[in-house]
Amino acid sequence: MNYLPIFIDVRDRRIVVAGGGRMALSKLRTLLKSAARVTVIASVISDELRDLAASDAIQLFARRLTPRDLDDARLVYIANEDINEDRRVATLCRERDILVNTVDNAGMSDFISPAIVDRDPIIVAIGSEGTAPLLTRQIKARIEALLDIDTGALARLAASLRPRVRTCFAAAQRRSFWRHFFAGIGARLIARHGADDAFRVLHNTLGDGIVPSDPTGHVSIVGGGPGDPELLTLRARRMLDRADVVLYDRLIDQRIIDLVRREAVLLEVGKTPGGHSWRQDDINAALVGAAREGQQVVRLKSGDPMVFGRVDEEIDALQAASVSYEIVPGITSATAAAARIGASLTRRGRNRALSLITGQDTAGYAEQDWRALAIPGVVSAIYMGIGAARFVQGRLLLHGADPATPVTVIENATRVDERVLTTHLAELGQQMTTQKFSGPAIILLGLADRSDSNQLTQRLGHELALSESPFPALLEVG
Ligand code: SAH
Repeated sequence: MNYLPIFIDVRDRRIVVAGGGRMALSKLRTLLKSAARVTVIASVISDELRDLAASDAIQLFARRLTPRDLDDARLVYIANEDINEDRRVATLCRERDILVNTVDNAGMSDFISPAIVDRDPIIVAIGSEGTAPLLTRQIKARIEALLDIDTGALARLAASLRPRVRTCFAAAQRRSFWRHFFAGIGARLIARHGADDAFRVLHNTLGDGIVPSDPTGHVSIVGGGPGDPELLTLRARRMLDRADVVLYDRLIDQRIIDLVRREAVLLEVGKTPGGHSWRQDDINAALVGAAREGQQVVRLKSGDPMVFGRVDEEIDALQAASVSYEIVPGITSATAAAARIGASLTRRGRNRALSLITGQDTAGYAEQDWRALAIPGVVSAIYMGIGAARFVQGRLLLHGADPATPVTVIENATRVDERVLTTHLAELGQQMTTQKFSGPAIILLGLADRSDSNQLTQRLGHELALSESPFPALLEVG
């Protein structure tokens, strides 16, 4: 180890940055998160620096650095983007034994700035001693995904509870409390009630001399998005990581199921046509039952649970049983599909409203306000519409819709087997019969496919560039 990793106390100490260009600004982004007093000395001053000085975030001098500027400097960052000036400042610092970091110049640096994962006060610093910056960034990305957003709040909560825990418990009990706390209770209380309330709940329980047991069960109704796991929200990811039981619909992509915590029990409660189907009452009972056993339950639904998700019956059952629950939104098929074909769902001068409609309801084909939907320029996203396509087409034409209205059907949007079919209203019913659709598909009425034929190639190129390369160091050099 050529470099010793340490964390330096910079509270109320001065850090000097020599230089005001792009590199200095990128250093400043990290420095300003610290409690140090930051002084920037640069001959050329950008508007951004001026704004920072105006808001008292930094002290700013528009001139060259002089030896006196170093009088109370704890650390110096050199980023003049001028090798002679960098050298001059580095020499001044070394004469006074002040630690310096010269951007992109290991020879003129005493220390390296690591890549950091910031969950203040939990900070993970990653460095490769300058050997493989790209690898460092990849490691950072992995750790970012691993650490909950609330990790910092958890550490702060532990710090604020520590005195209380010390007065309430003997040493052995204390250890048991902290084990419980970090094994999940702390994080769950924060996720559910926020850090302040979590503190209050724990503070009060500890006063009664009780080691809190795991909180009661909880149900998260989570939107799984259209299929691509990268389109999950961070909260959805976190819920999948913590689940004891996951009840999921048939439309949930296998790649998302693969993300669920390994120890969790998985139940497919889909209503498979022809196969074994769960009745809604049984799903409700399973949710309530698992939560009452103290389990963390995830009810995973495709897209957004609040859009044609039959979520109300489940919410009613949870409320009736006084089970605590939350709803985590997801990306609905209509917006995912629009993104895939590059066509905006609302456009100035064309449509001021967007209809999300279903092709089916309990009684069969769903009736709509067809006259309104037939007006030129109207955009509707039809869910569960494949079987009802002929009916929809007939109703719209009957109410005066233009037979040339563009229609785009997207099957398996964002999944590996995605398919896009472009047609127009006059052909819709016919097309739906001849093209066999086996996956879920959404019909975008009034929208044409605007995706560039190059888009796929470009996207592939982009994904390749983002994917892990076996030669990070080489790439960096190239
Ligand atoms: N809550 C879901 C909708 C459930 S209803 C959402 O917000 O997307 C089921 C219908 O959703 C399907 O019949 C189909 O019309 C649509 N759908 C779901 N996933 C889809 C996908 N990946 N691609 C296209 N349509 C999809």
